[in-house]
Amino acid sequence: MTDFVIEPPKQASIAVSGSAQRFPVRRIFCVGRNYAAHAAEMGGSERDLPFFFTKPADAVVDSGSTVPYPRQSENFHHEIELVVAVGKAGANIPQDQVMDHLWGACAGVDLTRRDLQLAAREKGRPWDFGKAFDFSAPCSPLTPIEQAGELKAGRIWLTVNGETRQEADLEQLIWSVKEHVSILSESIALAPGDLIMTGTPAGVGPLQIGDQVKGGVEGLEDIHITIGDPL
Ligand code: MN
Repeated sequence: MTDFVIEPPKQASIAVSGSAQRFPVRRIFCVGRNYAAHAAEMGGSERDLPFFFTKPADAVVDSGSTVPYPRQSENFHHEIELVVAVGKAGANIPQDQVMDHLWGACAGVDLTRRDLQLAAREKGRPWDFGKAFDFSAPCSPLTPIEQAGELKAGRIWLTVNGETRQEADLEQLIWSVKEHVSILSESIALAPGDLIMTGTPAGVGPLQIGDQVKGGVEGLEDIHITIGDPL
C-alpha cells in the first residue's frame, strides 16, 4: 500500500442503472458544437472538425441532486447531452471498433458559466472556468452499451420547470458517437472510466435558483436536478 502524505481523493463515480454498483470516473471529455443548430446559435459553422474540452472527474453529480448555483456567474446555462462511458482502453480506435470500447451511456448536463466561457473565448483564453467547475457534470445512471445500442437516433430533450427548452434527435449529431470517439482517440489514449459528453442541441439557456431541470435521451435513464443556493 502506498503511504500517502494526505488522504487520497475519493474516487469519483456515477450510478449504474438497476444496480448498486457504480462506474468509476477517470476523466471527462466534452465535444464542442456537435449539432448544427447549436453551432449556429453559438456563432460557428457546422462543418468544423470536432474539438474537445474537459471537466474534472469529480464534477459528476447524481440524478436527484441539488446543484448549487455557481459562483462568479450571472449566466448559468443548461446543455443536455448524450454521455458515453469508456470501459476498455484504446488509442487510434477505428470507427468500426468504437462500440467495443464503450461500457455504457447516459444522459448528462454540461452545465456552463456562459458569461465566463464567452469572455474567455473573446480573449483567446482557456474555457476551464466556464466549463470545468464543481457540480458541472450531472449524469443519469449508466445503461450498459449492449442495451443502449449504437445511439445513432433517438429523442434528446430538456425541460426547466416543465417547459421544454431543448428537443432534438441524436441523428442530428454532426459527428456520430463512432466518429468523434475515434477522432478523440487519435489525440488521447482513452482509458476505462473516461466519460465523453457528446455535445448539446440548440436551445441552451439560463437557469435560476429553484429551477427543476429534467432531461433525457430516448432509451436511457432520465436526469433530474434542482438548482440550489450558492455554496
Ligand atoms: Mn456542451
